[in-house]
Amino acid sequence: MSITVTHAPDDTLAFAAAELQSYLGRMLPAGAAPAFALAVRAPQVGENDAFRVDVSPAGGVIEGNCPRAVLLGVYDLLHSLGCRFWAPGRDKELVPAIGLEDLSARIRRTASYRHRGVCIEGADSRENILAFIDWLPKLGFNSFFLQFKNPYPFLARWRRHEHNPLLPPEPITVADGAAVMAEAQGEMARRGLALHKVGHGWTGQALGYEALGWSPDAAPLAEELRPLAAELDGVRGLYHGVPAETNLCLSNPQARERLISLVTDYARQAPEVDYLHFWMADYYNNVCECPACRRTTLSDQYVSLLNEIDRRLTEAGLDTRIVFLLYQELLWPPVRERLIHPDRFVMMFAPISRTFQRSYDPDAAGTIPPYRRNRITLPGSLEENLAFLRRWQEIFDGDSFLYDYPLGRAHYGDLGYVHIARIIHRDIRRLRRLGLNGYVSCQELRAGSPNFLPNYVMGRTLLDADADFDALTREYFSAAYGPRADRAREFLEALSACQLCDYVNGSGPRTDPSVAAAADRAQALCQTFLSENDPAPDGSGAWGALLHHARYAALLARALGLLARGRTEEANGAWGEMAAFIRAEEMAYQPWLDVYRVQDVTTVYTGFQP
Ligand SMILES: [Zn+2]
Repeated sequence: MSITVTHAPDDTLAFAAAELQSYLGRMLPAGAAPAFALAVRAPQVGENDAFRVDVSPAGGVIEGNCPRAVLLGVYDLLHSLGCRFWAPGRDKELVPAIGLEDLSARIRRTASYRHRGVCIEGADSRENILAFIDWLPKLGFNSFFLQFKNPYPFLARWRRHEHNPLLPPEPITVADGAAVMAEAQGEMARRGLALHKVGHGWTGQALGYEALGWSPDAAPLAEELRPLAAELDGVRGLYHGVPAETNLCLSNPQARERLISLVTDYARQAPEVDYLHFWMADYYNNVCECPACRRTTLSDQYVSLLNEIDRRLTEAGLDTRIVFLLYQELLWPPVRERLIHPDRFVMMFAPISRTFQRSYDPDAAGTIPPYRRNRITLPGSLEENLAFLRRWQEIFDGDSFLYDYPLGRAHYGDLGYVHIARIIHRDIRRLRRLGLNGYVSCQELRAGSPNFLPNYVMGRTLLDADADFDALTREYFSAAYGPRADRAREFLEALSACQLCDYVNGSGPRTDPSVAAAADRAQALCQTFLSENDPAPDGSGAWGALLHHARYAALLARALGLLARGRTEEANGAWGEMAAFIRAEEMAYQPWLDVYRVQDVTTVYTGFQP
């Protein structure tokens, strides 16, 4: 096999060539010698990732409008030849043997959306992060978001084995986090993936803290910085002791200046960052109540900061894109302030309190309530969430994407994962009509119990919004479960019919007979499945993971049924049995289930109190 690259030397093209060589080398008969050319053409203005593939048994051309698009073209060719990347990790792929005569493809594709990414959450090992980055472009994604300045909080949860006392905690430092970050960014650069960074933490840093993660900081607030903190009930200080959740007094010129300098200095020192997220505190109803701040709104103060950051970045000759956030108080659009140079910014709509029972309806009409300082409630309905977006769209028509949470909390309520995958598919298909140019999923990376169908559907549908859900699901199950695909799908579709996404997410009454009945049905389905199938797992393959999932799901469903009946003491005991089971099995199924996060969500949001 020969591969020529008709372009200046480039790491991503070299990687694309190596991938093509490696996969086709395994697929084709020995001695096959097709000749390929990888080419890059100039992109049109505003064009999304685009590629064409023209391949025959003699070889052919894969041409993209950037090196990353060539890599996406290579993976799309492999997909069309039968490769299935059904989970993160190179041991979880289907790579079929084909004849030379089968080497044939003609693909023309322009990605349906510009922004196609995932944001790190949960408890993650270095290997989880690297495997996920490797997986992303195979599904058609083009971005990854390493939250904070350093993904230390996510690595630390894993290394310390939070919520799993059966595993010995290992030490980790912020420098260890930085080392993994450097490695992860290197792997992203090889694949040409767009790099998103930071988000929360700026307000805590302005108060002199590192603000890596959501933990309280024992260090007292420096007295000279106390006037910079938001005033609440007449008092200024850290909110709940957590720097990343503390807002600032943005009428204070020193607070403004510190924030602006932090962001502009960071952008100057990290030119590799494509999208720098500038967000306020990760909490709501704790904005400053001083007389000066009361005369305006948080959104007006925020937009004024964004304009000043833009001015200084322009002065410094930096084209870093700044991502601003519609979330909590910032869902209300500013009254007076407007962004002066929209091209600098990307608007990120983050409806964290939405329901996952249903998908967005672009035609639904809703209204937004008046803004009341420190007395807001987060919108639950899709209509109200979209009404906030519409109001912002009236004053900002620049680049934007949806930042959504199907795999952040709600997925633990869908034990079959087919429901949540279907919601993801419908939401993504409707993005265009919502006026949004993409999707970044804020999620656990270990969102694979029972399987990785939701992320598979997400990536493929972001690349091609016309992708058919049933076809994607069929090819997924076939790749993951082989001859047992139908049995697995029947079981998981039935489990998904009992989904309790909103209940697990803490929405709705805690005592609810219909929830209890659905949980009972889910538990019975799992028990039947386990009784009808050989418990001998196929190693850590998809079928073995599915059997493990059925055991965990039966225990969780039992606990949910008791909780929804108001039998809280028994429910907490049943939750403990579930926790004991997944903790004991964690190392055997580490990439599949985030044992930290499912315990975190079901206690903080669902309401179990072990
Ligand atoms: Zn103030």
